[in-house]
Amino acid sequence: MQQSQSVCVLGGGTAGWMTAAALANKFQRSAVPVTLIESEQIGTVGVGEATLPHIRFFNQALGIDERAFMRETNATFKLGIEFCDWGALGDRYIHPFGDYGLPTPDNDFHQLWLRAGKVSKVSRLDDYSYPIVAAEAGRFRIPGENPDQIGSNFGYAYQFDSNLFAKFLRGYAESAGVERQEGKVVDVAVDPESGHVRSVTLDDGRTIEADLFVDCSGFRGILIEQTLKTGYDDWSNWLPCNRAVAVPTELNGKPLPFTRATAKTAGWQWRIPLQHRTGNGHVYCSDFATDDEALKTLMDGLDARAIAEPRQLFFTTGRRKKFWNKNVVSIGLSGGFLEPLESTSIHLIQEGITNLIELFPTGELEPYDIDEYNERMGLNFERVRDFLLLHYVATQRDDSEMWRHFRNLTLPDSLQEKIDAWLTRGYVLPYEFGVFLPPSWIAVMLGQNLEPKNHDKRADRIPEADLLRYLEDIRAKTAKEAEATPVHADFLERYLADAPQAAWRTT
Ligand SMILES: Cc1cc2nc3c(=O)[nH]c(=O)nc-3n(C[C@H](O)[C@H](O)[C@H](O)COP(=O)(O)OP(=O)(O)OC[C@H]3O[C@@H](n4cnc5c(N)ncnc54)[C@H](O)[C@@H]3O)c2cc1C
Repeated sequence: MQQSQSVCVLGGGTAGWMTAAALANKFQRSAVPVTLIESEQIGTVGVGEATLPHIRFFNQALGIDERAFMRETNATFKLGIEFCDWGALGDRYIHPFGDYGLPTPDNDFHQLWLRAGKVSKVSRLDDYSYPIVAAEAGRFRIPGENPDQIGSNFGYAYQFDSNLFAKFLRGYAESAGVERQEGKVVDVAVDPESGHVRSVTLDDGRTIEADLFVDCSGFRGILIEQTLKTGYDDWSNWLPCNRAVAVPTELNGKPLPFTRATAKTAGWQWRIPLQHRTGNGHVYCSDFATDDEALKTLMDGLDARAIAEPRQLFFTTGRRKKFWNKNVVSIGLSGGFLEPLESTSIHLIQEGITNLIELFPTGELEPYDIDEYNERMGLNFERVRDFLLLHYVATQRDDSEMWRHFRNLTLPDSLQEKIDAWLTRGYVLPYEFGVFLPPSWIAVMLGQNLEPKNHDKRADRIPEADLLRYLEDIRAKTAKEAEATPVHADFLERYLADAPQAAWRTT
């Protein structure tokens, strides 16, 4: 057992600098000195441009000015993700960052809508969601103060250049006392008795010791896997995509406030608009397409001129058997990877950091803290896995080998239960840990044509005419609010026009 006083973060990608910045912000530099090692020679994975709304709370906790951050990372606003061709070819829907309509004391809004649909012709559920209607019109503004009002009951995230984000956080972390060491780790010393990592040695012979190591070394997992042999739960049977090819393009028109994910025959293609360019990539499964076919699909699907050579990436979907093993905590790609269909990787980094700070050793490393951390992170990963898998199985598509593969899949019980509860009476089973709340599940299940057989009977208590009037009132308010919302690109330009400089040196 040991005292945890000093921390060494191995890796300077998004995970490494987010971790170092957050630790430096939380603990005084003298109480918990933080060193970060990164190797320019190795570089970073360099993708990861779309995020979830929670990242705003990360930035706020660090006291980061939103406009300074957006200007330095070429960020745009994001109201959700548009999914094209998922339920069936030609279908499209938006998974919004916000609620549908407004609930009454007794009923969730979607239950009212389900019942109304049985007695009359009603608009699509999307028309009662302000973030969807605003996104479809290419409009954006910051939510209002009162979350119980249409036009205020939504969240937003960012689409940004992840390399610039890491650089931005590096400036923050260094000014908060994080010591950066440039070099490549070539050796790791392990205590033969405890099995804990004692120190790492860089290629120039320097040795860095620490009490706690955070492995942010990316897919390599230098400490968590290469050193501690922690093991990996491979989830490729459920999520078989294992490669991606990415390429940036020029902006085609004004940047839209949403990410697009278009289903293909052997995977799916992303489109992420930033201020100065668009990020594109094709995630695919090598069992169902060759690399050349995948590249052709990507290039054929671009809507503007490519401005760099395409780059290929390889991955295995899954998670480390223990995220925290001995005195090593793995955060980022070293801890596991789930395809970026719902922009969850940076969020899982944030979860890792939040839980580490909550369970940070106050003295000796406690087995309880380590188990609790592993339990929470395991649940977070599993729930994202289920949500991603839902996109592949809630579909009528059978037009390629990949889609037929999903028809014959036995689902994890946790996902099957969620689908069964929905189909029975439109109920979304709640859980404590896990990033996606009921509106997200509703968006994907309805968006991909999983229609519940019944609705919650409480929705029947409202007289039919009142119900239809209530729905129409909300639809009209939503449309009016969206119409009064500025065009995203104009809002962005005005918002960032007098953005302050970051208070720290950006390297
Ligand atoms: C195709 C694809 C698309 C993605 N899209 C999204 C997205 O839209 N949204 C999202 O949230 N996430 C996305 N991600 C995930 C996201 O890119 C990562 O979660 C994020 O960049 C964090 O990466 P990392 O910091 O863990 O690893 P890396 O960026 O790989 O950084 C690893 C660091 O470790 C250092 N290092 C490694 N070995 C050594 C060594 N021996 N010595 C010293 N230093 C070393 C490297 O130099 C580097 O600094 C995507 C990932 C992929 C593969």
